[in-house]
Amino acid sequence: MPEAAPAPSSGDRIDRVRLSLVFLPLATPVGDGTAPPGRHQSLTEVAFLFTEIGTVDGCRGLGFSYAKRAGGPALYAHAKELAPQLLGEDPNDTGRVWEKLARAGSSAGRGGLAAQAIAAVDIALWDVKARRAGLPLAKLLGAYRDAVRCYTTLATTPVAELVDNAQKAIAAGVGGVKLRLAQPDPAADLERLRVLRERLGDGVPLMIDAGQQWDRPTAHRMGRVLERSNLMWLEEPLDTYDTAGLAALAAELDTPVATGEPLTSAAEHARLIEAGACDVVQPDVPRIGGVTPFLRIAALADHSGLSVAPPFATELHVHLAAAYPRATWVEYVDWLEPLFNERVEVHGGRAVVPDRPGLGLTVSQKAVTWTTDHIEFTETA
Ligand code: MG
Repeated sequence: MPEAAPAPSSGDRIDRVRLSLVFLPLATPVGDGTAPPGRHQSLTEVAFLFTEIGTVDGCRGLGFSYAKRAGGPALYAHAKELAPQLLGEDPNDTGRVWEKLARAGSSAGRGGLAAQAIAAVDIALWDVKARRAGLPLAKLLGAYRDAVRCYTTLATTPVAELVDNAQKAIAAGVGGVKLRLAQPDPAADLERLRVLRERLGDGVPLMIDAGQQWDRPTAHRMGRVLERSNLMWLEEPLDTYDTAGLAALAAELDTPVATGEPLTSAAEHARLIEAGACDVVQPDVPRIGGVTPFLRIAALADHSGLSVAPPFATELHVHLAAAYPRATWVEYVDWLEPLFNERVEVHGGRAVVPDRPGLGLTVSQKAVTWTTDHIEFTETA
């Protein structure tokens, strides 16, 4: 038990925390994507930290965060150090618990792995809160819509296959497609975009992801060429930490500039928003520390009149995007599907907010078999 006394109690108390380290194998290894050849190893699995929380009242919650490529075991190790401090806490006090865990691990920083270890706890606590209320998380937060426009990111393939995959995705109910720029010759990328637009027609929303590959002059030059392509957005045209460069680009282009996925804290997103460095903010909720920091980013983005489009983890992000007041998108990614017994429903161009309480997710038997380590902390009487 921690020495610090809990805040005035609602009457409930966390009495069980279970952590698991799960390695999700990817059906199709993900290649270099937008990165120049050799920069990234091919991605064959994603490490997940699952946190399951139980309370004296009999409520429970599930949260998760992840590491693509390196980082999973470190995430799990950091969470193991923090978890005992949750016992006895009121699960409703999400903000205070976040601060407590951040203080406990402050030597490891407020972003990065430290934030991502807290994220799995924070998401589980919001799941507890919503399940206790008998509401989907989107409804607990205050929903603006019951389905969110969703796009899929096309795998980098020859152009005929690209068109085919895009048409299949649209037929399956997805509302837009994102093309990753991947060719050493920009002219080849522009040609792929031209063919895709021609084959899909003007009505299909298209996005471009440049994967932080360009320098400032290239981003301006390519951005001006792409102005004619009627894009929903241009994603990661520059290094996400090049705030000044992004602000200048966003000021020049009519095409909305999207970025933020690589950032790992609300503070980093705040700097981006305050600098006018993007039109579409892309916080990845498990990366930035969970729902609690997301709500701060969303408030700031809304005040600034920006769109929010959380990338990856559709299962979680559909709830948060549904609760954002302005125009919003989620990325439809099916990678996480084998981890859960439930699936995200997609039709009419939108991902549907589930009507089940909380996140509406339970851990699948497959995820249990992919668990390489787990530990449980319980309150001792
Ligand atoms: Mg992205």
